[in-house]
Amino acid sequence: MERMNKPSKLGRRLLLFPAPFHGHLYPMLHLATLLHSKGFSITIIQTPYNPINPTHFPHFIFRSFYNSLLESYSKSPPPDSFAVLSVMNNSCSEPFRDCLSQILHEAEAAAAADKDPIAALIADPMWKFAGSVATSFSLPRLVLRTGSMSTLLLYCSLPSIREKGYLPPQDNRLDELLPDLPPFKVRDLPLEFTHDLLEALVQETKTSQGIICNTFEELEDSSIARVHQFLPIPIFPIGPMYKHSPTSAVSIWEQDQTSIAWLNTQAPKSVLYVSFGSVAAMSKAEFLDLAWGLLESMVPFLWVVRPGLIQGSEANDSMPEGYLEMVGERGYIVKWAPQIEVLSHPAVGGFWTHNGWNSTLESICEGVPMLCQPIFADQDMNARLVSDGWRIGLKMEKALKREDIAREIRKLMLEEEGAQTRSRITTLKEKATLCLQEGGSSNKAIKSLTSYLLSF
Ligand code: UDP
Repeated sequence: MERMNKPSKLGRRLLLFPAPFHGHLYPMLHLATLLHSKGFSITIIQTPYNPINPTHFPHFIFRSFYNSLLESYSKSPPPDSFAVLSVMNNSCSEPFRDCLSQILHEAEAAAAADKDPIAALIADPMWKFAGSVATSFSLPRLVLRTGSMSTLLLYCSLPSIREKGYLPPQDNRLDELLPDLPPFKVRDLPLEFTHDLLEALVQETKTSQGIICNTFEELEDSSIARVHQFLPIPIFPIGPMYKHSPTSAVSIWEQDQTSIAWLNTQAPKSVLYVSFGSVAAMSKAEFLDLAWGLLESMVPFLWVVRPGLIQGSEANDSMPEGYLEMVGERGYIVKWAPQIEVLSHPAVGGFWTHNGWNSTLESICEGVPMLCQPIFADQDMNARLVSDGWRIGLKMEKALKREDIAREIRKLMLEEEGAQTRSRITTLKEKATLCLQEGGSSNKAIKSLTSYLLSF
């Protein structure tokens, strides 16, 4: 049974409600660590899917609510993340309401005993109902935007994009720039079946009392300003958030530390790190092209092949015969890596990524140029920002064959085009470092956020 522990330095408690995907849980945990270090006490509300181990965070209180489908997905993987999202939004509203009601009831008693009263709820806007439930309890609510602000701007613009006739996308217009939204092109638009979800996310954000976002001013200042025109509420760009927590503390799956020992044996900037995040999956044919492309590039690589990466089969059954022997010492394969340590390792010279926002931001902040292979959701848009916007990575065309893959890898790692992306990302890395220092943009935003939360 959880308890309300001793009063915090600031005398206020925050309730945090993350969406249960790795790419959403990590930033929320980093935010929790940051706000705890500022003196708030923290309660995290979680579900049975991808549960965080409370023993890793003894200074937070964890509350869970039950849902049988989410519980079953944690034992045998769901068909895809949209299935999880649909369960989240169609059958978790009442359990969440009950859980929140109980927490608030206990908090009233704790406040009477001079323990921390609750200041606000910080929820992921993927939860469609968090806003209405919080309002029904008169509880102030902010959202944590875990993706980029440029993609949020695009989501806000979907109605006008539709009005201007860009939807559904026509084949002969795919390479047109979207008006007022460079560098996005028509082909980067999110798939139409996701639009209801994205418009609900915008609505959930709009009705909140503020947006905390995992970005920094120097990276996305104009998108932040334009989102503010659509959603005139306070915005706190306090990223990169992972810099607020010890890197190894926040992981849901066990990280294979032998990857660092292997990197220690490699030459500076020689290794390509290959990872497609926690949910993206590829066909067996794509996986095989990738495997052969890596081999034929002759570039050393560290490759994360997590369970579920290959649709319908496991890695052990999918590797070409004799592949590992052919790779020999030149490659190292793990199921899950300590990604931030990997990216900050001097041996790593490039990152072949699916461009999930966390991976993109981590690559920027560690100064590692990217080979972009987006797979779904906001990844196409993030890859466009990386390749055509900030020009800190090279975008792979879809369905490349192994010899083209090998050529792209060599371009990034060994040729002039790669060297130029490396130089540009090094400049951005410096900005990312400065923004967190005293007087830097994110540092100031953290101070404003703290005062704002204390005002409730
Ligand atoms: N990650 C990790 N080890 C790995 C692969 C990924 O720790 O082997 C972490 C990575 O550092 C990032 C998160 O998992 O913080 C993935 O989030 P992202 O937004 O990039 O992608 P998603 O998993 O949401 O598609």
